[in-house]
Amino acid sequence: MIIVMESRATDEDVQTVLDAINGAGLQPHVSRGVERTIIGVIGDERLIRRERFALLPRVENVIPILKPFKLASREFKRENTVVDVANVRIGGKAVAVIAGPCSVESEEQVFATAERVKAAGAHLLRGGAYKPRTSPYAFQGLGVDGLKILGRVRDATGLGIVTEVMESAEAEIVAEYADMLQVGARNMHNSKLLRALARINKPVLLKRNFSATFNEFLMSAEYLLSGGNSRVVLCERGIRTFVEYTRNTLDLNVIPAVHEVSHLPIIVDPSHGTGRHELVLPMSLAALGAGADGLIVEVHPEPAQALSDGEQSITPDEFDQLMSRVRTLAAALGRA
Ligand code: PEP
Ligand code: MN
Repeated sequence: MIIVMESRATDEDVQTVLDAINGAGLQPHVSRGVERTIIGVIGDERLIRRERFALLPRVENVIPILKPFKLASREFKRENTVVDVANVRIGGKAVAVIAGPCSVESEEQVFATAERVKAAGAHLLRGGAYKPRTSPYAFQGLGVDGLKILGRVRDATGLGIVTEVMESAEAEIVAEYADMLQVGARNMHNSKLLRALARINKPVLLKRNFSATFNEFLMSAEYLLSGGNSRVVLCERGIRTFVEYTRNTLDLNVIPAVHEVSHLPIIVDPSHGTGRHELVLPMSLAALGAGADGLIVEVHPEPAQALSDGEQSITPDEFDQLMSRVRTLAAALGRA
């Protein structure tokens, strides 16, 4: 439930409510807006009696949240959440663009890609050092050596780094090199990993599992928020359908749907969403048209030589064209 304080409520009034919530064995989450303080009450709903809080001083209203996700809901927080990652704000007027190879393969490969995507206007560099692969025989990533390459490229180019964490035990080491921690589609349901990342002071890019329903997607975000990490960016990367001419089906419906019920930003991955490099540009534009807060795109200097996801990687030249079209569309949409 949500407790809305009167605009004249003092810090002491808010504290009285927080004490009552803690006293009932529940967790308060305070959101101080310009006009009012709103307190989310999280915990076992059976322990919550509205009257217990409604009669406290300067409580204006006590409202149940009907959705299964609470902290992620717009009922809890009306204004859009803007997540700062290195030099970019995700969720504001600007379209945030993350670009780079699927996997970190070598220092030369990452440098070459980073310089080109930076020159084209990308804000953050992506690249996996730990790779979740379908086959145990496929390239699994360079691990810590890959993280070190990303660290050196960040120092040299100033681009913030987005990279995947596959398990809790590796969260600390990945966080040393990453500006944003990626939870891959396969791990969206891994609540232990989500809980571990909630305790790390880094923004999280949460990718939707290919079979996750809308509520399951937002409930995974709820794990991060309820664990204390409010810097969450959602990512639609395609779902499994009967369609076989693309690797996945990009579910663009989810963008306006998330914006309606949640305050969290959502970006789109047209690379995994399509699996085909020639579809990346049109689906990037479609994503922006649907209101995406940004894009994450796989770029490789030589896609044919890529150790993973070459078929869906675009070249730096193609990325230049993509950015030029994105700029034109963003301007037409009143975005930056
Ligand atoms: C990736 O970003 O390279 C990746 C593995 O993505 P996903 O988890 O969405 O499949
Ligand atoms: Mn990939």
